[in-house]
Amino acid sequence: RVAYVNGQYVQHGQATVHVEDRGFQFADGVYEVWSVFDGRMADFDGHMTRLHRSLNELRIPIPMTREALERVLKETVRRNRVNEGLVYIQVTRGTARRDHPFPAEGTAPSVIVTARSLPLSKGNAAAAKGVAVITHPDIRWGRCDIKTVGLLPNVLAKQAAKERGAAEAWMVDEMGLVTEGSSTNAWIVDESGKLRTRDTQSNILHGITRAAVMALAADEGIEVEERAFSVDEARRAREAFYTSASGFVMPTVSIDGAMIGDGKPGPIATKLRAQYLDQARRDAI
Ligand code: PMP
Repeated sequence: RVAYVNGQYVQHGQATVHVEDRGFQFADGVYEVWSVFDGRMADFDGHMTRLHRSLNELRIPIPMTREALERVLKETVRRNRVNEGLVYIQVTRGTARRDHPFPAEGTAPSVIVTARSLPLSKGNAAAAKGVAVITHPDIRWGRCDIKTVGLLPNVLAKQAAKERGAAEAWMVDEMGLVTEGSSTNAWIVDESGKLRTRDTQSNILHGITRAAVMALAADEGIEVEERAFSVDEARRAREAFYTSASGFVMPTVSIDGAMIGDGKPGPIATKLRAQYLDQARRDAI
């Protein structure tokens, strides 16, 4: 395996950044993840646009043109011979003597890109059975719309899920409303049959898969309401699922050990997963 690190392709095992990198010291950086189908990246523009938005919001300089970035991403996929898998990019504010304010103008941002294989069949097997989620308090900051590498609350939530045999943790705000998963957006089909997911005016990541699935649901004539749901509503839901670039649409069949619906992947989740996979594969570049 090889990784791209600040202009060079190096052996993955030897791929390192400096101890004074601000990503390492302050989590002062952002990232994106694309899924790969047939060696090509899905939802390319959506993730690329969000990367630029994250950089702008944090005033991290754009490290290179969009075209150059695209070439690096594609080359990293190619050199790792990834057919089905994931590509990861991280951009930090660069390396400078440790000091909280931004470093001197002209400090080059750090850019690293990795790619790895992850067979689709793995996720498909989980999706066929449906997965469990737990709930966990959302203790994050006020700018969860920025995709920063500061993920400690998400790490703690996901670990709690793992320790309880669940695939994901749905984070819950002080009102008892689900915000999103630790690395996914959360959805239900509520008691009235409406598809519900929290609005992006609130403090959550604007999921690229979320947006794609919303459009697919609209095409299907399924009513989508962008409105937060409570843990209680999730327990009573007909169906539940979560979305992300790495998990696509993942049917969710229990929450905190309580069965959702009949405890099997729901028809809407199953259909949206198939449609998303078709579209992502078709539109990948
Ligand atoms: N929410 C959070 C907190 C995430 O980390 C992710 C995954 N990056 C998502 C939602 C899903 O976003 P996307 O569909 O763009 O991968």
